Amino acid sequence: MKTLKTRSLLHLEVVLQNVMRVLKFGGTSVGSVENIKAVLDIVQNTPGKKIVVLSAMSGTTNTLQEIADYLLKYNLEAAQEMFAKLLTKYLNVANELCGENETVQNTIRSLFDEYKPILRSKLNVANEKRLMSLGEIVTTNMIAHYCHLNGIKMQLLSALDFMRIDVNGEPNNHEISEKLALNLATYPNHDTFITQGFICRNAKGDIDNLDRGGSDYSASIIGAMVDAEDIQIWTDIDGMHNNDPRFVKNTFPVKQLSYDEAAELAYFGAKILHPSSVLPARLKGIPVYLKNTMKPEAYGTLISSKTEPFTVKSIAAKKGITAINIKSGRMLMAYGFVRSVFEVFERYKTPVDLITTSEVAISVTIDNEKNLENIVSDLRGLGVVKTTSNQSIISIVGDRIGENKGMAINIFKALESVSINMISFGGSQHNVSILVDEDDRIACLNALNNTLFQ
Ligand code: ADP
Ligand code: ASP
Ligand code: MG
Repeated sequence: MKTLKTRSLLHLEVVLQNVMRVLKFGGTSVGSVENIKAVLDIVQNTPGKKIVVLSAMSGTTNTLQEIADYLLKYNLEAAQEMFAKLLTKYLNVANELCGENETVQNTIRSLFDEYKPILRSKLNVANEKRLMSLGEIVTTNMIAHYCHLNGIKMQLLSALDFMRIDVNGEPNNHEISEKLALNLATYPNHDTFITQGFICRNAKGDIDNLDRGGSDYSASIIGAMVDAEDIQIWTDIDGMHNNDPRFVKNTFPVKQLSYDEAAELAYFGAKILHPSSVLPARLKGIPVYLKNTMKPEAYGTLISSKTEPFTVKSIAAKKGITAINIKSGRMLMAYGFVRSVFEVFERYKTPVDLITTSEVAISVTIDNEKNLENIVSDLRGLGVVKTTSNQSIISIVGDRIGENKGMAINIFKALESVSINMISFGGSQHNVSILVDEDDRIACLNALNNTLFQ
């Protein structure tokens, strides 16, 4: 009996040693010396092989974006001043983290030096993308040095060697899995790898990124490519809350979400997850844990195929929305009308979020006004077009909420004093989305919180 038990424990140990986990730590988690140490404690306490995906220290990518904006306006002086301040910040953190270590200081200086030529002229798109990659690169290098100095065994992998997107900006899974496998195989004796989130190369081979907040997406893509045991998103809050904690008081963590629920929440504004980050994990059925770096003992949220049925889990809001209404007397009679409308959005590569129809009109929303003028001009060929900016989508997300009788009353009761511009339900059973004026967004989140959760 004893031998059997020992054997099975041994077997378990071998299994644990071979499983691969992906742990992603966001900006706040690597945002101070104290937090970086907490991150490394979590990594070292996690059994088995792991790929650790790191964001830039909090604030860095915003600063890089500001530098880019100055360069776009040809204000080179302001850009260079901000860049110098960012370098000083990293040198100071490195000093605190690694002591006055010349190698670390020189590494950081020379990484910044590589980007300096970008600051000498007006910015093009390729250089802007390149500039945005500095934060993740310098943060991971600094932490890798700290590990080295403190005997923490790990191998730094450059995400630029394996993360690829195609011409449509979608992950090139084939190349990613092949190149990542090659990179991992180069270090058979390592079980901890650190890499950058957010950054990648595009179809041309230039440095690019997965859009703001993209490190979550990196982690999920990597997790799917290595068939990870789990994907852990470590952040500054104990999981997905039932409402946006930035605007609503007394929110609480939701213990369990289905992939569908989490994907809807991420897409419709829950900042804790990048909008596309659930998809790769869902395709492979890999559980995703949302955990708090500063409070690792808190349960957090588990995203998997399981969920509590027929309940509302959380409310999210997405701002910066524009509604477009196209009215045509011939809509229902003329098949092909809807196709013609959507061809316009396809032509200008603009995704549509909400869609509603009536006998004579169709309304859609978009979250990107870049091509609005062209879109409206083309749509005018199909009918009378009206656009309304400064809109917000409020999404009430849960499991099969349509089957929860009485839910609709609670939703509309909460919004009795708000004008509703569009309603969408039925695309999925997991989301009721309501379009309101931007000015009503926070009031809606709070009112819905009171009726759905109190
Ligand atoms: P990281 O830098 O770790 O990626 P983010 O700032 O991107 O962290 O995401 C975490 C933040 O998301 C939280 O601090 C919180 O303010 C915000 N957030 C918005 N909606 C939610 C929600 N429903 N649940 C939890 N956090 C949310
Ligand atoms: N550093 C990037 C950003 O701030 C990516 C991330 O943090 O996920 O958007
Ligand atoms: Mg984030």
